[in-house]
Amino acid sequence: MHDLQIDGFKKTDENSAMVLLVDDQAMIGEAVRRGLANEENIDFHFCADPHQAIAQAILIRPTVILQDLVMPGLDGLTLVREYRNNPQTRDIPIIVLSTKEDPLIKSAAFAAGANDYLVKLPDTIELVARIRYHSRSYMTLLQRDEAYRALRVSQQQLLDTNLVLQRLMNSDGLTGLSNRRHFDEYLELEWRRALREQSQISLLMIDVDYFKAFNDNFGHLEGDEALRKVSSAIRESCGRSSDLPARYGGEEFALVLPTTSPGGARLLAEKLRQTVAGLNIPHIFPAPGASLTISIGLATLIPQAGSSSRQLIMEADKGLYSAKNNGRNQVVVGVS
Ligand code: GH3
Ligand code: MG
Ligand code: MG
Repeated sequence: MHDLQIDGFKKTDENSAMVLLVDDQAMIGEAVRRGLANEENIDFHFCADPHQAIAQAILIRPTVILQDLVMPGLDGLTLVREYRNNPQTRDIPIIVLSTKEDPLIKSAAFAAGANDYLVKLPDTIELVARIRYHSRSYMTLLQRDEAYRALRVSQQQLLDTNLVLQRLMNSDGLTGLSNRRHFDEYLELEWRRALREQSQISLLMIDVDYFKAFNDNFGHLEGDEALRKVSSAIRESCGRSSDLPARYGGEEFALVLPTTSPGGARLLAEKLRQTVAGLNIPHIFPAPGASLTISIGLATLIPQAGSSSRQLIMEADKGLYSAKNNGRNQVVVGVS
């Protein structure tokens, strides 16, 4: 039998054939069996009951069906249409066996979906040649479908892998926030959108206070843990899907807030500052018993033609610088 394998086809498969003959006359079945008996790679099944034909075809998966036209109880052409309507037998080549050479019957057979027409009983040479021809083209069709299926699967896998890669490429390893590269890309994209739409775009620059002292006192591992907690607070402060939290570098973070007013950004920044202070991460700076805090610089702009997103970063940085100078643990709006 032709073996359809999950992992591909053997070379011999396309030359092997599985023939199903559906004919009510046992004598015809015997004659065809004898004719094919000495043929290599041709397996033969005979079905004398037309009502069993579809079930048999589904079971043995022939590569060619030889179909008698005149049978008691079930018309051969009706059966041809049934093969064609069934998804499991739809593409199997059908050679119709007729008792006579009649153009009307012939055209009806082809219209019903037959692939070939033979007057029975054809001589063995012709029968074998046609069986081999149709069988091979059917096997080629199956192989092609299988190849397409495998191609679609690997294309999907590639897409999935690319998505995972993209996510990895865009994120910071320690905190899972966007990394600097993705931040730069995103800010540029949103800056240009704000320029087109003449909308406000806000930026928060966030820096952990006295973090060097934190590391020096509690060690780098504790330091990393504190950075993760601060990152989670930053991530959770984002209310809109367009807000982008990023690790700008070291213990500095940035938050891009498209279409956000100075008031809205200030409210968000102040809440975030309080949330981080409320984490009560113990620190010994600026005094024993203190908690870890952050300083935030904030800027909002409506981009003008010829201006650059660097201007927004510079203004927010100025705010951050003032926040540090004024005593830390506060939000300051940067001015140009
Ligand atoms: P300021 O309040 O003025 O911001 O003081 P600071 O000590 O926080 O600032 P400074 O820039 O002097 O020190 C930042 C420290 O952050 C230095 C470095 O040890 C620490 N740091 C940067 N990246 C990481 C990190 O990934 N993990 C840990 N554990 N520490 C980091
Ligand atoms: Mg710092
Ligand atoms: Mg710093």
